[in-house]
Amino acid sequence: MQHELALFNKLANKLFEAEKNNPVAQPLPAEELFKQLDLSLSNNPATDFEETLEKLVLNTPRTSTRLFFNQLFGGRNPKATLGDLLAVLLNNSMYTYKVAGPQVGIEKEILKQICTRIGYPETSDGTFAPGGSMSNFMAMVMARDAFKDTIKNEGITQKLTLYTSKESHYSIPKNAALMGVGREQVRYIETDEFGKMNPHVLVQRIEKDLENGLHPFFVNATAGTTVLGAFDPIEPLSEICQNYGLWLHVDGAYCGSVIFSDQYQHLVNGLARTDSFSVNAHKMMGTPLTCSIIVTRHKQYLHNSFSNDAAYLYQTNDDDYNLGKTSLQCGRRNDALKFWTLWKSVGTNGLAALVHTQFELADAARAYVEQHPDYTNYSIENSISVCFNYKNIAPQELCTALYEHAELMVGYGTFRENEFVRLVTINAGNSIEDIITFFTVLERFVEENEMIFNDTVVTSEQDRL
Ligand SMILES: *Cc1c(COP(=O)(O)O)cnc(C)c1O
Repeated sequence: MQHELALFNKLANKLFEAEKNNPVAQPLPAEELFKQLDLSLSNNPATDFEETLEKLVLNTPRTSTRLFFNQLFGGRNPKATLGDLLAVLLNNSMYTYKVAGPQVGIEKEILKQICTRIGYPETSDGTFAPGGSMSNFMAMVMARDAFKDTIKNEGITQKLTLYTSKESHYSIPKNAALMGVGREQVRYIETDEFGKMNPHVLVQRIEKDLENGLHPFFVNATAGTTVLGAFDPIEPLSEICQNYGLWLHVDGAYCGSVIFSDQYQHLVNGLARTDSFSVNAHKMMGTPLTCSIIVTRHKQYLHNSFSNDAAYLYQTNDDDYNLGKTSLQCGRRNDALKFWTLWKSVGTNGLAALVHTQFELADAARAYVEQHPDYTNYSIENSISVCFNYKNIAPQELCTALYEHAELMVGYGTFRENEFVRLVTINAGNSIEDIITFFTVLERFVEENEMIFNDTVVTSEQDRL
């Protein structure tokens, strides 16, 4: 392994150098991928293994640099990366204490800290899932079994309905399909002008379904909607769920990490009264992908829905230390260690500082947009998604041209009838100067390539019709 570690160091240094000089890698056109890189596998060992590996590394999109704003993750936190490298080296599987040893304690400590922070009782517990989509899936399955415990043995015989906002993540309908509830039983609740779920409309939809003899069982609230970064109002939603006996889950994949900040945790007020909550540490906390955590106040449902006896696996210790008993998976990689190395090294105050930096960067970006007349602002307050258009250029054209010219990685989104560029200030390693650089790169690019954009202006929904 010593040889490979040396090679790893060499490749890492080349990558760091490349990231500094060219924060955006020149994209390889998909049609030319197999022509430009030797990705082929054959019967014989490659003769140019190291060169090929280096080419692969240097041609891969750079998600850790100051010009990557394309997704809800970014940056490279060194302490978290160290933890993940160690997890790979140790290669434990998290299902049993016998195989994972103290790593079980790492996971349990994180889960306990989060449950305590959000005000869940002693009866709470949680696990790590392979991503926010799967955390939502686990919440939905627990809610189904809490609604009727016999479903997991007998199958679904009644029409179950569930509720989520129009701005929520696509994993909700996808999971409804996967779990046999059906996409058509998902009710998309209207939001207000700031993208937050409207509780009055929710009550109306529940009432209507009850009148029609259907069976509401689950409400999903979002802490940080994927496009606008809006926070659904948890307090009124929890009131409604209590009245109707529905499971309330908060999907905090994007912005649930505000729980670590005394200054911003008010955005999820009411969390203590929910049934489950999920958060992706690979988003706001900047750990490497993936690091998704789901907690529930009802430990018994986590166990009831996900445990299965297996004499060949569970041979020592009790269920509290055999984490496979509350997991979606069997063999499971250690996603906890990278978050623990980060948390241990900076403390909860350090996690709060990551949150604060992201909101400060977003505030600076919004201020820039508002001060410059060539920009139109579409973003809401208290969000780390900064949404705007520039000089009426169609956002899709602008984002794609910036990517193809290796200038910037940024994406676009829509809310109601508007399409816009979405700048996400998720990389806490960035400074305000980096955010200003984002705008200057964009402006210079438009100025130098005016002809590309001559024909493309933003069209509203009305114009298109
Ligand atoms: C990112 C995101 C998810 C999905 O998380 P993955 O880890 O990508 O599966 C779910 N919900 C919201 C609100 C998200 O932003």
